[in-house]
Amino acid sequence: MDAREAALRQAYGHAVRWLASLSDRRVPARASVDEIVRALGVELPDGPGRPADVVDLLATACEPGLTAFPSGRFYGFVVGGTEPAALAADWLVSAWDQNCVMRTVSPAYTAAEEIAGAWLLDLLGLPGGSAVGFTTGATMANFTCLAAGRDAVLRRTGWNAAVDGLAGGPAVRVLAGEDRHMAVDLALRYLGLGKPELVQADGQGRMELEALRHALATGGRGPTIVVLQAGDIHSGAFDPFVEAVRAAHEAGAWVHVDGAFGLWASASPQYAYLTAGCADADSWATDAHKTLNVPYDCGLAIVRDPSALGAAMGLHGDYLIQDRRGDPIDKVPELSRRGRAFTVWAALRSLGRSGVADLVERLCRHAAAFAAGIAGIEGATVLNDVVFTQVCAEFGSYERTERVLGRLLDDGTAWISGSTWHGRRVMRISVSNWSTTEDDVRRALDAIRRASGSA
Ligand SMILES: *Cc1c(COP(=O)(O)O)cnc(C)c1O
Repeated sequence: MDAREAALRQAYGHAVRWLASLSDRRVPARASVDEIVRALGVELPDGPGRPADVVDLLATACEPGLTAFPSGRFYGFVVGGTEPAALAADWLVSAWDQNCVMRTVSPAYTAAEEIAGAWLLDLLGLPGGSAVGFTTGATMANFTCLAAGRDAVLRRTGWNAAVDGLAGGPAVRVLAGEDRHMAVDLALRYLGLGKPELVQADGQGRMELEALRHALATGGRGPTIVVLQAGDIHSGAFDPFVEAVRAAHEAGAWVHVDGAFGLWASASPQYAYLTAGCADADSWATDAHKTLNVPYDCGLAIVRDPSALGAAMGLHGDYLIQDRRGDPIDKVPELSRRGRAFTVWAALRSLGRSGVADLVERLCRHAAAFAAGIAGIEGATVLNDVVFTQVCAEFGSYERTERVLGRLLDDGTAWISGSTWHGRRVMRISVSNWSTTEDDVRRALDAIRRASGSA
């Protein structure tokens, strides 16, 4: 066995043991950063070590400091787990080590990206022929789409931002809902567009149509982008797309949708009503590493007009071997990058159309079970309309909610974080892992009952 194979076998053993531990291990990490630093050791060795030993040290030293993100009882943030075919495909991605920039240099990658892209448009109900770029995550997907939008609305005024930059050109107005995700603000900051103008949202975080219409009517007809949201991180709520997209288009705006986890509602016949009208927008950002459950890092930047995306992201290099049919490089900000679409292809090929719908429906069913279980706890109130995968609950007062969250984390059965939503301290549950079972939900609810002192 050569050193490389020995290292891979060592990694395989550790990976399989880690995955097998998930059903019963405490979800929070057991060790602190300092403890792991000591276990890893801070001295840079003077010379080489056996690769298999290095992998063994890494896995052994890190294990206590790992949070069980892929556990069926991790409900923090919105993270997703790792679907088996996608995880295994990701190992191949590392072994293959393709630089997925150019069509003719990695035909296998380009083929997988094109097939996965077409399947995604089909599953998400988006216009066929839209460009699909594979980014690191939804933050960069929002950035990519908004870059295409920014340049397109400026081009309509005769201003070429790609050549002349932004200074001296017409100001681009960006309208976004009060409860948009902060990744939208970050993307706008990267793009030199500053802070968005906020449009009032309702109690669930949905953009108020009248407020949008008023903003569109009063701000002049300069270049405008409207950012809508599919899936609020607290409530799971969806903006009223049919009317909002129509109003924005009537005002000549580019409409972008941040649907990091929520866009996947479209893949389920039962939940597709939530995204009705969304397909009429101009661009959409979503993650594959959340609801679809592929490994990090994988987001999707989808733009109706491929030439708008190409104008913002495409490049020419004399040493590159470019193809007139377009290259993966023309759709994302990065140059060198790993083969993200292989994992998406594997997840979709493994789940099939009905498997993706089942996945979405299962996540929603578990969220509803959480809401029902929490509503039965004395003094607890579910604050949101549980329409999708998110649940926000309050336990009587700020202090009690805080105490319940603290005890829950100490208990370790499940990982659920707190948040502040519309001025109230809340327990925020996000169900996004394919492997979560009814038993996981039962165990997590038991832990919440214990933590709230009513078990
Ligand atoms: C997670 C999330 C983002 C950011 O996505 P990353 O993949 O973490 O970059 C943006 N918008 C919403 C609604 C999200 O849930």
